[in-house]
Amino acid sequence: MDFQIPYGKQEISKEDVEAVKKVMTSDFITQGPKVTQFEENFSKYIGSKYSVCVSSGTAALHLSSLVLGVNKNSKVISSPITFAASVNSIHYCNGKVDFCDIDPDSLTLDIDQVRDKLMNSPLGTYSGIIPVDFAGYPVNMEKFRDLADEFNLWLLEDSCHAPGGYFIDKKGLKQNCGNGSFADLAIFSFHPVKHITCGEGGMVTTNNFELYEKLKLLRSHGISKIKNNMKNYDGGWYYEMTDLGYNYRMPDILCALGISQLKRAEKKLERRIQLANNYNNAFKNLDIKIPKIDEKNKHAFHLYVIQVDNRKALYDYLKKKGIHTQVHYIPIHKLPFYERLYGKQTFENSEKYYSKCLSLPLYPSLEEKEQEFIINEIKNFLN
Ligand SMILES: *Cc1c(COP(=O)(O)O)cnc(C)c1O
Repeated sequence: MDFQIPYGKQEISKEDVEAVKKVMTSDFITQGPKVTQFEENFSKYIGSKYSVCVSSGTAALHLSSLVLGVNKNSKVISSPITFAASVNSIHYCNGKVDFCDIDPDSLTLDIDQVRDKLMNSPLGTYSGIIPVDFAGYPVNMEKFRDLADEFNLWLLEDSCHAPGGYFIDKKGLKQNCGNGSFADLAIFSFHPVKHITCGEGGMVTTNNFELYEKLKLLRSHGISKIKNNMKNYDGGWYYEMTDLGYNYRMPDILCALGISQLKRAEKKLERRIQLANNYNNAFKNLDIKIPKIDEKNKHAFHLYVIQVDNRKALYDYLKKKGIHTQVHYIPIHKLPFYERLYGKQTFENSEKYYSKCLSLPLYPSLEEKEQEFIINEIKNFLN
């Protein structure tokens, strides 16, 4: 068969291409006006006070770990069901991760198990929590904030899957994923399978001015050129390196793509949700576990994950038909690097989920006809 349906796919418009072209021939191809413009527009979209764009979601996680002070004495709680990058950065900073199981319905970090873990450890054992808005499910960050405050922990939200998603807080207000109301920092990625893409790129959002300033410093070598912040000032050429930073900058060329993509973010999100609803309706009465949706909250549907008993056979069957699905994710504690580091561990809900999960094709340009074909093939398989 010559036609192939991937599980995810970017959508680049003519306007996107024009926006990039324009910057290519301008005076600035990196660190010009597009960087701040992208950051400001992103803050507006997400509802955070500040945004700092960086070269990838992983760079966003690394800088976040640094400014939160992760070091060899740090122990951090996170979920085994996420992309490894969510916790790799803790190890870049020589910290340790203590995994906690997922809730089998929301597929996100089970707050009750996190609370148990904290209650059963001496105060000061842990320094932070990394909840992940897995597949686009908006984690109730207000509840995590309350828990974090009780145990004096920082909160880093991995919102890569959930730009545009929200939950309703105690006061009845919409709280966008990654908006900085509750988490100290949140991070996003602009990899091609994500909601909006820059090819590569990432963002840290926060409402904390001090962390914002530190992030900007470390993004570019720890070097400051702001006269008022300097100890000495020898002249116009002068700069000071005050911290050991990195080159995690995002060029203007890619920021222009991000600005252009962001204009269609809401439209693309609505399309994802519509496709997810189509899947939900088609699978309602079948032997398939469909994603949990809370009526009042907005699921951002980065992934559409089903759970079935004979997952491997379904994966192989669909692949033969040209339908490419994926498994998100192999539990992190099962990855050889992590097994070597922490030994063999078991997390019942995560492992049960892993044995059954399959991410179906979901991206804005997926056509209804293609989706019908996918649904019919799944029905054929089940019969
Ligand atoms: C994509 C992703 C990342 C990493 O982002 P990159 O831009 O690829 O470095 C981190 N966490 C999650 C949950 C992701 O989906």
